[in-house]
Amino acid sequence: MRAELNFEPPAMTPTHQPKGLILAALLAGTAFGIGAQDKALNLYSARHYQTDEALYANFTKATGIRINRIDADDAGVVTRLQAEGSASPADVVLLVDAARLTKADADGLFQPVNSTVLQARIPAHLRDASDGGGPAWFGFSTRARVIVYNKATVQRADVDTYEELADPKNKGKVCTRSGSHPYNLTLFGAMLQHLGAAPTEAWLKGVVANMARPPKGGDTDQIKAVASGECAIALTNSYYLARLMRSTKPEDVETLSKVAMVFPNQQSWGTHVNVAGGAVARHAKNRAEAVAFLEYLAGDEAQLYFANGNNEWPAVPTVKISGNPALEAMGPFRADNLPIAQAGRNQAQVQQMLDRVGYK
Ligand code: FE
Repeated sequence: MRAELNFEPPAMTPTHQPKGLILAALLAGTAFGIGAQDKALNLYSARHYQTDEALYANFTKATGIRINRIDADDAGVVTRLQAEGSASPADVVLLVDAARLTKADADGLFQPVNSTVLQARIPAHLRDASDGGGPAWFGFSTRARVIVYNKATVQRADVDTYEELADPKNKGKVCTRSGSHPYNLTLFGAMLQHLGAAPTEAWLKGVVANMARPPKGGDTDQIKAVASGECAIALTNSYYLARLMRSTKPEDVETLSKVAMVFPNQQSWGTHVNVAGGAVARHAKNRAEAVAFLEYLAGDEAQLYFANGNNEWPAVPTVKISGNPALEAMGPFRADNLPIAQAGRNQAQVQQMLDRVGYK
């Protein structure tokens, strides 16, 4: 992900053209009328994958609606929306993780969407709760938060639940990225929903007590630390593992040869699943086009592009990915069907717990 804002494609965005050209375009519009081909929407996206080009081109082909993309990372998209306020040209916003989506919604950056298409296609637990006017955001792909372990030093049976990350038998073995990262905030928010407050805080305290080292790096760094022996057990989103599984780089092949993965909690509530999602921006000027785009993302073909582009699973349950060897190798699993919006809304309470137990 890029840290800096990056505008593209400037050639298609009137605001990036010299004034003379804008005037010429306006005059042309007046003279010939603005037809369907002039419809456009502004997309603020925190997702950037090779399959995006086909995804967006197919939408334009099908609807005549042009897409102006403003790419940034998740924090960049949110910062920009907040800075622009009611003057924001954003129509559609794509963000990663329910913690970020619920926070952006709570900050008033989205508006409700009442779409029978979206409500029929996207399962209720993978979208915002409909509290007045429809959900404020919808998940379009899913990723599991799985446990990886060092095959030489850890038994699978000792790490097949999230609860065991805090078990004294795993002392000195656990590594994670920051507890405050959205991926962990949402997982811990789901734990809070399942276990209740006091047991969740005790669990977080136990995870901290089991750490091999203070939290640092991203999920891929945790997998590498498990492989190198720096730690032995870690949490990662499934697509980082899938990325390594599809890599032919010798160092990635070497890393993978040392680790195994488990879908946690198959005997209880299921493995925690998060989403990448989309919403209509609060101050969208092209609202109908924005809703049309979200509905397009819920279609069969778009679901495949959107999910497969990042080795994720489609949010629409009837759409099945084929031809992705990493996802096939991971196999089917029981996913937690807790409403992900609820897990996301627990993030402030979770953060207070993290501060109390010293989870960095
Ligand atoms: Fe990620």
